Amino acid sequence: MRIAMIGTGYVGLVSGACFSDFGHQVVCVDKDADKIAALEKGVMPIYEPGLEALVAHNVDAGRLSFTTDLAEGVAGADAVFIAVGTPSRRGDGHADLTYVYAAAREIAQALTGPAVVVTKSTVPVGTGDEVERLIRETAPDAEVSVASNPEFLREGAAITDFKHPDRIVAGVEGVRARELLEAIYRPLNLNRAPLLFTTRRTAEIIKYAANAFLATKITFINEIADLCESVGADVQMVSRGIGLDNRIGPKFLHAGPGYGGSCFPKDTLALLKTAEDEQVPLRIVESVVKVNDARKRAMGRKVVKAMNGDVRGKTVALLGLTFKPNTDDMRDSPSISIIQALQDEGATIRAYDPEGTEQARTVLENVVFCDNPYAAANGADALVIVTEWDEFRALDLDRVAEILAQPILVDLRNIYSQEEAAQAGLSYHGIGQIGTA
Ligand code: NAD
Repeated sequence: MRIAMIGTGYVGLVSGACFSDFGHQVVCVDKDADKIAALEKGVMPIYEPGLEALVAHNVDAGRLSFTTDLAEGVAGADAVFIAVGTPSRRGDGHADLTYVYAAAREIAQALTGPAVVVTKSTVPVGTGDEVERLIRETAPDAEVSVASNPEFLREGAAITDFKHPDRIVAGVEGVRARELLEAIYRPLNLNRAPLLFTTRRTAEIIKYAANAFLATKITFINEIADLCESVGADVQMVSRGIGLDNRIGPKFLHAGPGYGGSCFPKDTLALLKTAEDEQVPLRIVESVVKVNDARKRAMGRKVVKAMNGDVRGKTVALLGLTFKPNTDDMRDSPSISIIQALQDEGATIRAYDPEGTEQARTVLENVVFCDNPYAAANGADALVIVTEWDEFRALDLDRVAEILAQPILVDLRNIYSQEEAAQAGLSYHGIGQIGTA
């Protein structure tokens, strides 16, 4: 199968590399010339565990190549995937479909034979209809079918997720698209990953409903954590106690500083906009968005409270800046609001992140970036764990207590316990734990 992947970001590059690993012939296209030049030299434009080796292996095997020339990538392709960004539109929160529609028009001009155009980007319901209309308008004689195949991979575990998905959702409007997607995903089907065929519109809704549900689960446990702090209960045991119920399940029940990242914030917002346009209120999702927005800044206030209510002239050290471990992605990371809240109160910020520093420099101002956790903590008036990277899970707490100017540890991911911290002489402030409010 010959595949063109339009957009070589977190989703396009991982999907393209995995498809080529299945044995398909893949050309990854991106209009960002620096990205393509780096990839051609074997340098990954993003941090994703295992990606460099996977790309190198398939480039060497002659199955994976890169280009900035969309027409070259699309020529002769059986399937053309659109994996460009769909960020929040400035001002109103709708999904910005500029890149998707531009890609659709360019694809239409470049088609050389029959093809299925598959939208992998997360797009509001009805976008597939518009992609199809644009393609027919631009290339009335082209033999094209348009399908929706939303992606569910998680950054940081993207390759495993792509190769061992819980399910593959394919929204198709005809036999040809169905047969083609069956053929493309056949290697996964052999692993018994359910390939769920639906209509195009249903597939588009599935992606948003899934993300909104997960965002709701996180926000639910975060509010329960606040209640636990207030009444003297332990949210981690509550999570365990409810998560053992098969109807609930243990995942996405870790209380923390609020969800962030490149998907949940923008996708919940875009779903609300669709609901608003349809005059079908989604009140639960509305609350989730409001509660989560407020929470990120509230975490800044939590740090201030742990530092006896005054951070003016004080230094706060942050560990972890990315929205989750094992990625360099800073988009909508809770660290951004937490840092802003602390700076607004007059604090100086030092920070360390294993992979996110380069991207963090582009979104954070007046932050001193350090080379390791201890360099960040040295002389600071409090240490705050924002992202649970593995290398923060076994810190030498005695050393931390020794080098901090004030022995205060705020653990927004609950990776340490009150007892461990106390043994090292640290005053401990977790999330939803007894005595840590
Ligand atoms: P990204 O910003 O990392 O990558 C998008 C790429 O598309 C960029 O490199 C950009 O230069 C390129 N591009 C834009 N227009 C183009 C064009 N006309 N021709 C060629 N290249 C073009 O975005 P991402 O994180 O990979 O997300 C892509 C889509 O997948 C979004 O809709 C997102 O919501 C969805 N998604 C993302 C994730 C995730 O974890 N990042 C997971 C599931 C779904």
